[in-house]
Amino acid sequence: MVLNYLLRKREDFQSTHEQLHIMTRKTSKCTSVKIFNNNLCLLILPLLFVLTGFNSLLQAQDRNYEDVIIMGVYAHPDDETSSGPVFAKYARKGAKIILVVATDGRLGVTDLTDLEAGDELAALRREEMQCAADVLGADLHHMHYHDQLRAPEGQDLFIQESRKIIDDLHEIMGDRQPDIIITWGPDGGSNHLDHRIISGTVTQIVLSKNWENRPSLFYSGTQIPELGDLWRYRGVHEDFLTVRETFTEEDVDVAAEAARCHSSQFRPELIESWAEQWRETGHTYFRPFEAPRAMADDMLSYPSQYE
Ligand SMILES: [Zn+2]
Repeated sequence: MVLNYLLRKREDFQSTHEQLHIMTRKTSKCTSVKIFNNNLCLLILPLLFVLTGFNSLLQAQDRNYEDVIIMGVYAHPDDETSSGPVFAKYARKGAKIILVVATDGRLGVTDLTDLEAGDELAALRREEMQCAADVLGADLHHMHYHDQLRAPEGQDLFIQESRKIIDDLHEIMGDRQPDIIITWGPDGGSNHLDHRIISGTVTQIVLSKNWENRPSLFYSGTQIPELGDLWRYRGVHEDFLTVRETFTEEDVDVAAEAARCHSSQFRPELIESWAEQWRETGHTYFRPFEAPRAMADDMLSYPSQYE
């Protein structure tokens, strides 16, 4: 799989980089430690140059994203804004971006329009979502589910819809065969029930489907210190936010422009405050969903996951 290939290359690159670092330190000792004669330095230095060349080659290979498919799966039109700069970054690098949006956002009433909940608002949000996908350079697969999966109409309909969406997402994810899937974590990003259902559904499909190439799954995450008292409902401890995606100012500009498409949902000042934060930090965090790495006869003998 392309992603595994890229990740392997990155690991190779990192270990080569570490070796180079160690060797550089060792080489610098050659001049001061008399027990090493010059022959050792003569052996090490050419090797250092070979590895440096190899290093550059790996970096060049790392830059080929054209075969990489990244899929964002979200509950509502505008959820993709949370990882906008990351989608913009990978689209800029040539990766294929696919945004899957489950619901029509028909209940997203705000004071930014005169629209009430219903078909007209859903139609507007469909246009807004298409606009955002176009700006981000993404393919859009907007599903036709009602906001909140018809929960306001009763538990039976809600259960029916939340089961149907498993089949539909199963088909879309299987057809498109992404290398990477990004979705909300179990906290839903904002504790929103729709977000949490999508997180659980996507995880369920990644785990249960008999994939030819199982995609790598990442949850977008917010560090708990940034959330104050809200951390219980939304945050992820930094120990788990181990993927730090950087992006450029150009990516932030694209993400902000895409966010402005959702004019029924976001005030321009709010988008500008996000853009400022993105420009200031230049990165965002993800939590990788880790696959089991060992077999065990019982739970207590399973190696600790936290060491
Ligand atoms: Zn949402």
